[in-house]
Amino acid sequence: MRFAILSDIHGNLEALQAVIQHIEHESVDEIICLGDIVGYGPNPNECIELIREKATIILAGNHDYAPIGKIDTSYFNNYAKIAIEWTGDVLKPESKNFLSKLPLFEQHAGIFLVHATPHQPGEWKYIFSLDDAIEQFLSFEGQICFIGHSHSPVIFIEGKNYNYHLSYENKLHVRNDERLIINVGSVGQPRDMNPNSAYAIFDTETQGYCLNRIEYDIVKTQKKMKAADLPGFLIARLQVGQ
Ligand code: ZN
Repeated sequence: MRFAILSDIHGNLEALQAVIQHIEHESVDEIICLGDIVGYGPNPNECIELIREKATIILAGNHDYAPIGKIDTSYFNNYAKIAIEWTGDVLKPESKNFLSKLPLFEQHAGIFLVHATPHQPGEWKYIFSLDDAIEQFLSFEGQICFIGHSHSPVIFIEGKNYNYHLSYENKLHVRNDERLIINVGSVGQPRDMNPNSAYAIFDTETQGYCLNRIEYDIVKTQKKMKAADLPGFLIARLQVGQ
């Protein structure tokens, strides 16, 4: 099976359309979305509609549950809170209903899929370092766990004291004796100093992993955010990928 795995779209329709267009030339069997379809960006309903049409598995992120009141939002920073409130106001009833039913994790074709962490996925913790990753390897079965959430692509290998930061297009062959936690980065709000959308391709037969970076019309998204009166900080960060 050849999978396209993407995460953290955050209501950025231009980014999602560019990524889907790229995926359509990659002859994948399935598209998997690891959550945070909405929040921050100006097109939450449109992103939900497009990802529902294209993906076979869609998981929940914290920004999917927050605008529908499914989780406590007190720990979000002010910019996020403003965007969550705005998103909650513009979401259609059908979109809210869809978000409310998204699962926290899935096991599919021997791969573990989750937005934040395999251990207590509803706690929305981050895996930034090897130390963070160590205990997480105990909480999933199989060889590979794909995650999103931090918006920074990275690969942690169990028992190894280094990690791979794949910021630009990069390939990795997964060895049969390795266990990995792979963050596929963000489609709609990259934070690794590369503003291009990130998404991954993984082939279960060849064990080949590839991170793709896709250009999209950032200015168009920013104009829509300005028109929606979303915070300037959120608009500016798209340009730098931070
Ligand atoms: Zn996110």
